Amino acid sequence: MIRALISDFGGVLTSPLSLAFTAYSERTGISPEQIGAAMERVARAQGGRHPLFELEKGAISERHYVELLEAELGDVDFDRFRDVFMDNLHPNEAMIALIRDLRRRGLRTALLTNNVREWEPLWRVKLPDIDELFEVIVDSAFVGMRKPEPEIYGLTLERLGGGLEASDCVFVDDLEVNCEAAAALGMHAVRFVDSEQAIAAIEAAVRSGDG
Ligand SMILES: [Mg+2]
Repeated sequence: MIRALISDFGGVLTSPLSLAFTAYSERTGISPEQIGAAMERVARAQGGRHPLFELEKGAISERHYVELLEAELGDVDFDRFRDVFMDNLHPNEAMIALIRDLRRRGLRTALLTNNVREWEPLWRVKLPDIDELFEVIVDSAFVGMRKPEPEIYGLTLERLGGGLEASDCVFVDDLEVNCEAAAALGMHAVRFVDSEQAIAAIEAAVRSGDG
């Protein structure tokens, strides 16, 4: 029986992240592929330590991350990425309504996000009633681990408490790798493609254990 929902933030409770990357690309001429390639070069130069993963685990500051990327990409005003990204991130009202409804129906709820420490005040305001929607918020940048590391899913269960086990949870995320990790732990994973599909899959999972 499903007793809890664990949700991703970016791309699930918001508009697709690709829109934000496209907006940045249109303004600066730097494509998501160029950013990705630059991050891979930094990772290789650092002996495998991926700058985005380091940023998301709070191991490096946003300032340091920007400097690493700008050293690769040249003078591209990467500092503005945050602002363009946030301006193009809009709440996904359909998913937010689903979470509100599940909460009313007695499900436990947690937010599990790979995020940037310095961005916390910026993304939290996208969900004004975030503390009513979620009993638990696990932010990678404050706990030193990130999805898809199994430990961060374990920490989320631990913080939810109440003897919840992985198999009691439905997990929703727009990244396949994060869903695979959740499924490997025994969670019912729903890969978010669009709201209609994800809501149907989550409702089906919740109903499957009823009665
Ligand atoms: Mg996401």
